[in-house]
Amino acid sequence: MLLAKSEIMSIAKEVIDRYILFILKKLGIWEKPENLCVRLADANDDAFGVCLTYFKDQEKNELAAAVVVLYLSNITCIRIFNWFRLPRLCMFSKKLLERKILHVLAHELRHYWQYYTGEHKKYHRMTKGIYQKVLLLEVDAENWAEEFLSAYVLKPRIAWLSQ
Ligand SMILES: [Zn+2]
Repeated sequence: MLLAKSEIMSIAKEVIDRYILFILKKLGIWEKPENLCVRLADANDDAFGVCLTYFKDQEKNELAAAVVVLYLSNITCIRIFNWFRLPRLCMFSKKLLERKILHVLAHELRHYWQYYTGEHKKYHRMTKGIYQKVLLLEVDAENWAEEFLSAYVLKPRIAWLSQ
């Protein structure tokens, strides 16, 4: 049975409410910053989410605001053609969907952290090209999200398999 759109929406809101402060705390941010908000939206490309940032200055030293957007339709479906979407596995299971949304949320909040702390500037110094910088920021966000999920949420119970 496929999850209904309204169920997907409420699961997403629940995951965001339940985990946003927890994830931020694990990133070393102890309160939800006033310049951060999280939204749900549809997307025209294939991204699961995005972290949009606005800076007070050209040098990108001071973050003015950030919006994390989660694209639920891409999280739940693979777009084959413009007119055809194939449901992903997570659309059949509340548990899988929660895990997937949590993964995307953790990834995007790590991007927020990169800009909030100024860590992104380190990557700027390390690389010459903008594409390489973006790639390194992506790798960092994805590694962190993977680690967060395995360390704090879903410790794989591999031990059970050998019994
Ligand atoms: Zn990313």
